[in-house]
Formats: sequence, C-alpha cells, structure tokens
Amino acid sequence: AETVVEVRDLTVVYPGRSGPLPALNGVSISLPQGRSLGVVGESGSGKSTLALAILGLLPSNAMTTGSIRVVDTDIVASSRQDVDRLRGTTMALVYQDALASLNPVRTVGAQILEVVRRHRSDLTRPEARTHAIEAMRRVGISDAAARMRQYPQEFSGGMRQRVAIAMALVGRPRLLIADEPTTALDVTVRTQTLAVLERMREELGMSVIHVSHDLEVIRDVSDDVAVMYHGRIVEYGPASEVLSEPRHPYTAALIDSVPTIATPRISFIPGTPPGAGDVLPGCPFEPRCAIGNGREECRTARPPLVGAAADDEHRVACHFPLQVEPRVTTP
Ligand code: ATP
Ligand code: MG
Repeated sequence: AETVVEVRDLTVVYPGRSGPLPALNGVSISLPQGRSLGVVGESGSGKSTLALAILGLLPSNAMTTGSIRVVDTDIVASSRQDVDRLRGTTMALVYQDALASLNPVRTVGAQILEVVRRHRSDLTRPEARTHAIEAMRRVGISDAAARMRQYPQEFSGGMRQRVAIAMALVGRPRLLIADEPTTALDVTVRTQTLAVLERMREELGMSVIHVSHDLEVIRDVSDDVAVMYHGRIVEYGPASEVLSEPRHPYTAALIDSVPTIATPRISFIPGTPPGAGDVLPGCPFEPRCAIGNGREECRTARPPLVGAAADDEHRVACHFPLQVEPRVTTP
C-alpha cells in the first residue's frame, strides 16, 4: 500500500523560560494507506507534539528538524499556506473535546453545512444540505434532518463526537488524527467514538493515528503501536506483538498498570516521567526501570530503536529487552 505518512528523524524543541525544551527527539514513523497507528505514553511524552507536527499546527516558535511527508507534501519544508490547504482535505484532526470545537450559538446543521460548502462549492444549497445530512447519517446520527436544527448543547457527548467526526470527514481526508485528552472522557463515549472512527477507516480506506495515554483504548483499534517516553519512541511495531509480548520494560509496566479483574485498581508506574528540559544521556526510563536502574550502560548509552533481526518490524530501544511474556514489577 502507498505510504500516507512518513516521519523521519523528527526533532521538535519548544522555547522554554529557562532554556530550550526538546519535546521530540529523533522520532520516525511510517503509516501505509488504510492502516492505523496508536501513539501511547504518559503525559508529557510528546504525543500531541507529534500529532500537531504532522498536521502543521505547531506554534511558530517551535524549532523543527527532520522531515514529515503526508502523501506527497513535505510538511516541514512547505509554506504555511500549502499546509493549510492540506488540512481538511488530505488530513484532518478530530478534537476529542467536541464541545470546544463547536460554536455554541449556531445550529449543528449550519456548522456542518459551512464545512460542506467550503469543500464542495459545486453543490447547490439543497444539494449541500443533502450532503450534510448524509455526512451525519454516515457516522450514525439517525434523525439527522431534524438534528440539523439543534444546538451543540442539545447533543449528548457521544453525539457531539460524531458531529466532530462527520465534519472532519467532509473533505474525504486520507489521514485522520484523533488526539484524546488525558482528562478522560466518559468511557462509553470514548469507546463509541473509536468504534465510529474504526468503521469510517474501513469504509473510506483512510489512515488513522489514535493518540491516547490509554493502552486499552489503543489495543482494540490500532494495527501498529508506537510507545513514547520523554520525546522518543521506545517501542514500535504491530499492536498484536507490542501489546502481547512487550519487549521494553516501560511498555510492560504500562500494560501492568492497566486495571484487570484480578487487580481492579490502577497501579501507577513508580516514579515520575522526566521533564522536557531534563537531560538524560542514556535510556530516559533508566531511573524508573526494574531491569536497568543503576546499570552503567543504561545510564550512559542511548539505546537505538532496533529489531531482534534486521527485518523485524517489532523494534525496541532497550539495552536489556524482555525476551518472553514478561510480568515485570518496577522497584
Ligand atoms: P498529554 O498526555 O498530557 O497530552 P503529550 O504526550 O501530548 O501529553 P505534549 O503535549 O506533546 O505531550 O508535550 C511534550 C512536552 O512538551 C511536555 O514537556 C510539554 O510540557 C511540552 N510542551 C508542549 N507544548 C508546549 C508549548 N507550546 N510550549 C512549551 N512547551 C510545550
Ligand atoms: Mg497531548
């Protein structure tokens, strides 16, 4: 399949009050047409920075090096105007906070119609209206014609998410990015939203990037997973492998921190993630790692992201990767 997104050696540095804050460091991803990638990691690991960089939405004072190609446009090298043109057509963002992205004083119908007319200036008014209703139906809003006259507050959280998805899909994007805030939405809403996105991916053959701090969310909907820590990808590969046979102690700890029937409470990974400005010359997870903590190699040498074999799609950045089904407990 054609590659829709190709990120190579991406570095993003924000200016900070007390010095530069590197938020991404040497990040590379590749996403073929129709495939989905889940980006996971704790708060501050750089997930949204990666999403915004791909969408060309980073603040202008952020320093970016490396390359980002979406279909055949280089996002880093292109003019702001060219990137703006791609957004909504080739690529789109679904805010997972639909209330914030909808205007409270205009009807939902008027807002969808506006997006339709922006993309399809060839349509007459009645045709645009039919198109808008169709867009709402497609994402599972059943009484769409009547719903057009309602205001965002009259929609439930789940229905508002559907409206946001419908609007993002009007331009038939090749790539959709859904960034989920850490402040968890209602679990049911979140699950429904993902199900709608997943159905749309199948129907429209889009590529999708799901950004979430929640591994369980990613597990069900992603073909590939990238696990981020301190601005780097520490483990990357097919979701079925990464999430069932994690090789990085951080991924294993993330999986273990998910509540199960046996351990119904969320257990957190001990310690705190480093701040963007913290300098860690070795593995950034070393201070919290059950295996590497205190080891000279982990403290001083940066582990490269590599597979067990040269052609292995499952790659890990760890000097002492886990070999078999692990049950790691952190110190
Ligand atoms: P969360 O799960 O909380 O959404 P995240 O993984 O999306 O976190 P980012 O928002 O990408 O993380 O932030 C990565 C790092 O960059 C953090 O240390 C954050 O404080 C910093 N950062 C993000 N945006 C800016 C900005 N506009 N200016 C300065 N620093 C920023
Ligand atoms: Mg974020």
